[in-house]
Amino acid sequence: MNTPGGPQASASPPLLITPPALAPWACAPQASRGRRVPEPPAPTRNEHQRDRDRIVHSTAFRRLVYKTQVFVNHEGDLFRTRLTHSLEVAQVARSAARELRLHEDLAEAIALAHDLGHTPFGHAGQDALHACMAEHGGFEHNLQSLRVVDGLEQRYFAFDGLNLTFEAREGILKHCSPRNARRLLAAEPDGPARRFVDGGQPGLEAQLVNLADEIAYCTHDIDDGLRSGLLRVEALREVPLFERAHAQALARRPAGLAAGAGRRLVFETLRRLLAHLVADVVQHSEAALRAVRPADVDDVRRLAQPLVGFSPACRAALDELKRFLFQALYRHPQVEQTTATARDVVAELFRAYVGRPTEMPPDFAGAADRPRAVADYIAGMTDRFALREHERLSGRRAFPAL
Ligand code: MG
Repeated sequence: MNTPGGPQASASPPLLITPPALAPWACAPQASRGRRVPEPPAPTRNEHQRDRDRIVHSTAFRRLVYKTQVFVNHEGDLFRTRLTHSLEVAQVARSAARELRLHEDLAEAIALAHDLGHTPFGHAGQDALHACMAEHGGFEHNLQSLRVVDGLEQRYFAFDGLNLTFEAREGILKHCSPRNARRLLAAEPDGPARRFVDGGQPGLEAQLVNLADEIAYCTHDIDDGLRSGLLRVEALREVPLFERAHAQALARRPAGLAAGAGRRLVFETLRRLLAHLVADVVQHSEAALRAVRPADVDDVRRLAQPLVGFSPACRAALDELKRFLFQALYRHPQVEQTTATARDVVAELFRAYVGRPTEMPPDFAGAADRPRAVADYIAGMTDRFALREHERLSGRRAFPAL
C-alpha cells in the first residue's frame, strides 16, 4: 500500500510509464524537418503527438468507420472497416516502435493516417477510380492520403490541410509513381516525393508502419474470413505460419473446452500469429540496426534498403499466407461479385459528376481541374454515402438486398 509521503512512496513506480530513450536513428520531434507552414510549438505536446491529434480530429479519419476493408460495410457489423484496421495497425506499430526505441507517437500518427486516401469499397473502388482517371494522372491511394492531409481537410484559417510534419507526410506517402513524384517535386523540391526520384528510404517509423499494416491485415482478414464463412480453419492449417500458431493454441486448450470453443481457438491462434510476426520484425530489425548503426535518420534515408523488416524465413512464410488469402478470400467469387458491383458504382458516379458537376458541393463543382475534383469528391465518400448518391443520380439501387 502506498502512503503519500510514507516510506514506500519513493519506491513506488512513476505515475507515468515513460517510454525508453529514443534510439539515435529514431525521428526525434525536436529534430523534425518541420511543417510546411511554420507554427509555434505546442505547450504540452511534442510535434508528432500534435500530428496524431490533428489526424484523429479530421473528417477523413471519421469517415474511415464506414469504408470497406475487405467486406463491404453493409455485409456485417463485426467485420473490420478502414477505421478499426487503422487502429489495429496503430496498436502494432506503437508496441514495436517502443521495443525498437523509435518514436511511438510518430508511428501512431502515420498508422492512423495511412489509409485516409482510400476510396469507398476498398481496392475495388480504387481500381475503378484509377481507371476513370487514366487520362488525367491516375488515382493512387497513398498519394490521395497525402492530398487529404496536405489540402483536402480544411479546418484552419492559416493553411489548407493539417500542416503535418515532414516525417508524418513522408510516412503517409508510402508509394508514388515516378510521374506523380516529379509533379510533387516541382511544387515542393525537398518534399516527401524526393525519394521516389532519387532513391532512398523513409524514416524507420514509416518503415515500421508498412509492416504493421501487413501484420494487421493478414491476421484480421483471417478472422473476418472465418467469421464470414468464406475461409475454413482446415484449409488454413495447410499454411505453415497459421498451422504453427494453431498447434500452439491447441496445445494450451484446457480439457473440456472442446464444445463451442471454435472462436476462442481462432482468437488464441491469431494472437499467437500476431505476436510471432511482431517479435520477428523486432528481432530482425534490431539486428539490422545494430549491424548498420546509422548515425541518425538522415543516414537511414540514404540507404538503398529498408532496415525494418522480417527475417527471410518469416518473410517467405508470410508471403505464402498472403498468397493463400489472395486466392481463398480476396478472389473468392462472393467477394468478387460484390467488388464488381462496387466498381460499377464508382465508375457511374464518376461519369455522372463529370457530366453534371453541380451535383457536387460548390467547392468541388467550381474546381478548375474537374476530373481531379470528382476523384477527390468520390474518394472522400463512405460506402453508404456513395451508394445513396449512386441511387439518387442513377435511379437504381446497386445492392438490392440492402
Ligand atoms: Mg492499410
